[in-house]
Amino acid sequence: MITVVGGGFAGVEAAWAAANRGERVRLYEMRPVRETGAHKTDYLAELVCSNSFKSKLPTSPAGQLKVEMVALGSIIIPTGEENSVPGGEALCVDRDVFAAAVTTKIENHPLIDVVREEFTPEMAQAVLDANEILIIATGPLTSKPLGEWLAGLTGRKHLYFYDAVSPTVDASTLDMSVVFAQSRYDKGGDDYLNCPFEKDSYLAFVHELVNAERALPHGVAAEDETLEKIKYFAGCTPIEAIAEGGPRSLAFGNFKPVGLTDPRTGRRPYAALQLRPENAGKTLYSLVACQNRLKWGEQKRIFRMVPGLENAEFVRFGVIHRNTYIDSPQVLSPNLEMREYPNLFIAGQITGVEGYVESAAMGIFAGISAVRKLHGLPEAIPPRACAYGSLVSHLQDATPRDFAPMNINWGLFPDPETPIRDKQVKREWKLKQAQDGFATWHESLGPV
Ligand SMILES: Cc1cc2nc3c(=O)[nH]c(=O)nc-3n(C[C@H](O)[C@H](O)[C@H](O)COP(=O)(O)OP(=O)(O)OC[C@H]3O[C@@H](n4cnc5c(N)ncnc54)[C@H](O)[C@@H]3O)c2cc1C
Repeated sequence: MITVVGGGFAGVEAAWAAANRGERVRLYEMRPVRETGAHKTDYLAELVCSNSFKSKLPTSPAGQLKVEMVALGSIIIPTGEENSVPGGEALCVDRDVFAAAVTTKIENHPLIDVVREEFTPEMAQAVLDANEILIIATGPLTSKPLGEWLAGLTGRKHLYFYDAVSPTVDASTLDMSVVFAQSRYDKGGDDYLNCPFEKDSYLAFVHELVNAERALPHGVAAEDETLEKIKYFAGCTPIEAIAEGGPRSLAFGNFKPVGLTDPRTGRRPYAALQLRPENAGKTLYSLVACQNRLKWGEQKRIFRMVPGLENAEFVRFGVIHRNTYIDSPQVLSPNLEMREYPNLFIAGQITGVEGYVESAAMGIFAGISAVRKLHGLPEAIPPRACAYGSLVSHLQDATPRDFAPMNINWGLFPDPETPIRDKQVKREWKLKQAQDGFATWHESLGPV
């Protein structure tokens, strides 16, 4: 028997994966007994916002991930295809019809029992004490008692209750004739990159920032309440709010140029936006202290005004919102089992991936890992090159950074050892590695 908690994207996939491999599953979902504040229906796998599962092009990162999921026996992707609506290159679904179809399939599975009840810390402890397998897939809006229980297990500093993250860019799209590597006062190596502002470019940037269109809060009471509580925490103030404090507030704060010398001018820049590597391969960089609540289009427009970022490709945008997730690089094994707590698996967005599809993908993998454990089979970790391996490596990469949930994107796939300059050719190379790596891994899994 496997207990899965949370009937969202990851939970249904974990249950489906385990049940289709012959295990009996009890799947707990607290709705409608208890609401999350964002979900509106009683359906399993409810989409809380957009109805898009992103690109279905098999040559895109999201497309490759879908190919891998389908091969592993996904319920979400085929049911999405059966209930799709026109969406161009994206796989878009009729949200209610889709969620109803997933719910019916799960409820009709002979090995899955759906229990509509809030799963409590006491219930979690009882499952672990009985030496049974527990998969937690309670998502960004995990109920408070269970979130507190997880915080107790991981240590408070390894469980986050909100995202306050800066945008992240693909390193290969930076203008390195402008951006320079230097740590302040040359202390700490050349991990940091710097985008140097002149006075005019800085003032123009600040002007656009304070006048930018803000994203509306998601309109959920729970989130607004959390935001109220976190609003004044240090390090969490949106950059646009700091900029409102006066035209020079960023130059004296987040963008202070002290200890930096622009090699092009031999002078200290007027202000500098710093970039910090997001992964060991340095294929992704985050914009330091640029957490914000602007609309995504506005973020792209305004951050591209920063010298050196004119052509930057953003792999994620800044956000400040409620989101429960664990510090996976510190507490999770690559098979999604907690390092310190055998039999406790974590799946979905709470692991530190982001999005419906990525969360569902981690659900399938948790289901497979749990069944392998029950059968006494060795862990089966996806190779780094494939989409699954790229996501898992994001969860394992302990590069010092503000660990934050991430969508699948090209920057997560490993670079070739010999650099390939042409972006398109490089992506084709990455895709081929992913396809080959996944095929070999998939074959090695056998019936489980
Ligand atoms: C407001 C908002 C907007 C979003 N917009 C988008 C978007 O546009 N596109 C996108 O790709 N992603 C979006 N996301 C992220 C997306 O919701 C998640 O990536 C995805 O749903 C995560 O899947 P999951 O299975 O991990 O969690 P969920 O799908 O949230 O499922 C978790 C389930 O666990 C249940 N649960 C929680 N605690 C308990 C408990 N103690 N006992 C029993 N059940 C419990 C919840 O009711 C829920 O059904 C958004 C998230 C939020 C909060």
